[in-house]
Amino acid sequence: MITVSLFASLVTRATPETVVAECRRCGTSVESDTSVCGTCGSEDIVRYSID
Ligand SMILES: [Zn+2]
Repeated sequence: MITVSLFASLVTRATPETVVAECRRCGTSVESDTSVCGTCGSEDIVRYSID
């Protein structure tokens, strides 16, 4: 997994990163700057970037 992490960091540096955010409780996708889920009201939002 070290190789994958290195590759991911290189890609992130070279291209605009796409950040995906979703509610950890109900799984609804939300805007990346959202801190509260509009569906269930949870503040447990998880963010991750995709290549
Ligand atoms: Zn939710």
